[in-house]
Amino acid sequence: MYRPACLRLPETWLRAKSFKSGYSRTPHSRQVHQDGYISMFSNSAPSSRFEHVTNEPVLQYLKGSSERENLFRAIREIREASPIEIPMVINGKSVRSDDVGDVRLPHEHKTVIARYHKAGPEHIEEAIASSIDARKSWAKLPSDDRLSIFLKAAELLSDKYWRSKIVAATVLGQSKTIYQAELDAACELIDFWRFGAYYSSCLYEPQPNSLTGVWNRLVYRPLEGFVYAISPFNFTAIGGNLVSTPVMLGNVAFWKPSSYSLLSNYYTMLLLKEAGLPDGVINFVPGDPAKITDKVIVNRQLAGIHYTGSTDIFRRLYTDVGKNISNYISYPRIVGETGGKGFVFAHRSADISALVVAIIRGAFEYAGQKCSAASRAYIPASIWPMVKAELLEKMKSVKLGSPESPDVFVNAVIHNASFEKSKSYIDYARASSEAEIIYGGNCDNSVGYFVDPTIIVTSDPYFKSMVEEIFGPIMTIYVYSDDQFIETLKICDSSTPYSLTGCFWANDREAIRTADYYLENTAGNFYINDKPTAAVVAQQPFGGSRASGTNDKAGSHLNLIRWVSARVIKETFMPTHDVLYPYMK
Ligand code: NAD
Repeated sequence: MYRPACLRLPETWLRAKSFKSGYSRTPHSRQVHQDGYISMFSNSAPSSRFEHVTNEPVLQYLKGSSERENLFRAIREIREASPIEIPMVINGKSVRSDDVGDVRLPHEHKTVIARYHKAGPEHIEEAIASSIDARKSWAKLPSDDRLSIFLKAAELLSDKYWRSKIVAATVLGQSKTIYQAELDAACELIDFWRFGAYYSSCLYEPQPNSLTGVWNRLVYRPLEGFVYAISPFNFTAIGGNLVSTPVMLGNVAFWKPSSYSLLSNYYTMLLLKEAGLPDGVINFVPGDPAKITDKVIVNRQLAGIHYTGSTDIFRRLYTDVGKNISNYISYPRIVGETGGKGFVFAHRSADISALVVAIIRGAFEYAGQKCSAASRAYIPASIWPMVKAELLEKMKSVKLGSPESPDVFVNAVIHNASFEKSKSYIDYARASSEAEIIYGGNCDNSVGYFVDPTIIVTSDPYFKSMVEEIFGPIMTIYVYSDDQFIETLKICDSSTPYSLTGCFWANDREAIRTADYYLENTAGNFYINDKPTAAVVAQQPFGGSRASGTNDKAGSHLNLIRWVSARVIKETFMPTHDVLYPYMK
């Protein structure tokens, strides 16, 4: 029977010991005879399933621990070797150009930690041509061999050399605090690779029904052409995942990383090469995003876009693909995870102390630069005095500074444009009669791009900072009258174009049921009595709808199936020799 994989629980998969018989086929590479006949060929099923997948344990970096020592050594080594040269990687070779840009530390912007080579038109052509060439053998390589490369990459990253190097590059280049960098650059990326291999090997489990004398089978081909992966600065793991997921399934990828996460992304590329990724399967092409995109998007062989970043750019990409739609070989698959306006909604029955922790961690970890970050809160008037008092008390322990200091909670924002954007919202609130800044509000970009973690309280649920994505350390709170609970849930649902993350806090079960009902379409990742951030691969598959993306849930089988094109084969063992049907005789 045909059973869609999405109906099965990952836990069930995890417990399953092996494939059911009847659809697993031994993969072979292609063997072509002199006359062009092919005796062995497979681009499809893995011969076995990668089993026993668990999430990578999070290292704690406690004083005196070996991981802390390794990390600080790696940070020192990167600083001493700076500026590190970041070439393009095209067809496995380091490629340099005359157009070079700086990578600066966000928390110490006078320091140039790396210099990168920007792609010109000839490099873009070369990268596309080499990936199309690499596809010929990569797409036909048995799935086991492809997946093994990513499983090896996960092992390399789990080990101390690459772990400390990529976590250090994330701390420095993206100004991420140590623990946040560990969660992202080590654990999440390892999980993406291991669970990606696992889900890839599960894709083949549901197969069509076959009647006697017939064998129907479903195979998953990689897309024809190449996948354009465009990654954001804020998660090292997202860059690695956007290219790896399509590639695990036999596709080839053109990777355009963000100019603000280049060091960690470049190291990810080198790690994949060390794990055995063949030349040209992923090409790493930094440079001017608009110039690169203008050339890539009109290429006839564009098979898909795997994007994470802001909403406006994704809309432009979608529109441009539409304009070129008759030029492509196929309809390109477009997968995008975009902006958000994460909310914290409290009911009067909420656990106040835990709610306050969720607001602080949700809003200020990584300086609010998570798509999932909490940036608006709805608190009932009956508990607001207690919430406010505890919030202001707990904020005293939240330190702003360099992420290289283990006691720092809030880091610098990524670049000056981001600094100016956050500052403009704070200035707007300061000048408004509808808002009061109850915590923070200072901004200083003399050394690094530092914005105080800032809490604004507004009397207007549609206030500018309640409804627009800021992507900085700013939380805006609207205090609602307890008898306006339902109306405020409706405002929470309808006041922003986004639908990514949100959380609801209550101990009253009826209130939880009510919020679940009214907020059904307000978030793709909805949390009850927890903060709206820190989704874990294979535990809370991540993604949102409305203006927040295509909701293809990164790190799950839902995302994987976007990168394959199914093909059904019907084989009949005893074909009929009659034209007429029996009743006609
Ligand atoms: P961004 O939109 O500035 O950049 C994203 C990528 O797009 C980068 O690689 C950038 O170089 C590229 N880009 C910029 N201009 C382009 C153009 N004209 N054509 C093509 N590509 C272009 O985003 P960012 O600052 O790197 O990341 C923050 C944004 O990403 C936020 O909006 C955040 O919500 C979103 N985000 C969403 C998710 C999610 O899962 N929904 C995850 C992470 C980040």
